[in-house]
Amino acid sequence: MIIYGWRAKILKEAPLTNIECENCKECASHIGIASHYFHLFWIPCFPYAKRVVIACNYCGKVTKEKQMSPDFKSKISEIKAAAPTPKYLFSGLGILAASACFIAFSSYNTGKQQKNFLGSPMTGDIYVLKDNEEASAYKYYLMKVNGVEEDSLFVTYNSYSYNGIPVQLEPEDGFYDVSVKIAKAEIVGMDVRGEIKKVIRDYGDTEGYNRIVEYVVDEEMYEEAIVNE
Ligand SMILES: [Zn+2]
Repeated sequence: MIIYGWRAKILKEAPLTNIECENCKECASHIGIASHYFHLFWIPCFPYAKRVVIACNYCGKVTKEKQMSPDFKSKISEIKAAAPTPKYLFSGLGILAASACFIAFSSYNTGKQQKNFLGSPMTGDIYVLKDNEEASAYKYYLMKVNGVEEDSLFVTYNSYSYNGIPVQLEPEDGFYDVSVKIAKAEIVGMDVRGEIKKVIRDYGDTEGYNRIVEYVVDEEMYEEAIVNE
């Protein structure tokens, strides 16, 4: 298990007696400057951003940077510059964890992006799905979003199965010219069950994801099925 993420370290705290609290009108606030940093096993790897908050000592109201008035925001850059980021927030970079930090950081970002894609689906999104019940090695197939509604998606599927996450489709493969309605709740279920391996957005023409194939009902198979009944 790798433990990583963002943490914040308070760099500077100072009373702010000349500012009136928006909430209680008392002049009893203090300002805090925090540096957010990426950590791996709680070892700081690299600092990310400095954030300023104002907290009222009297009523406890906390004002974040983005909620502050524009003229106060302009003063903040000076305040931030006056609180240099401690060198030890880079300490993770000096040790063997450096490369691991980077990998963890990238996978953190990739994971976050994938969650964003799942949370706000867009027409054209490609879902790489894994069918764990498929007995052969060809467990991977694709689902493409053709339309997005409030509670559901219209999707279609590709015509081939793959034995791994395909970088591009086989030349004869493409997405069927049909749309099937699927509830967003079902997508969540698929994600929870680990069936969604990847969400692909912003692709070009080389991958073949824009290729459409005709959906033909196999008459022979259909008749055979009836005969067998
Ligand atoms: Zn207050």
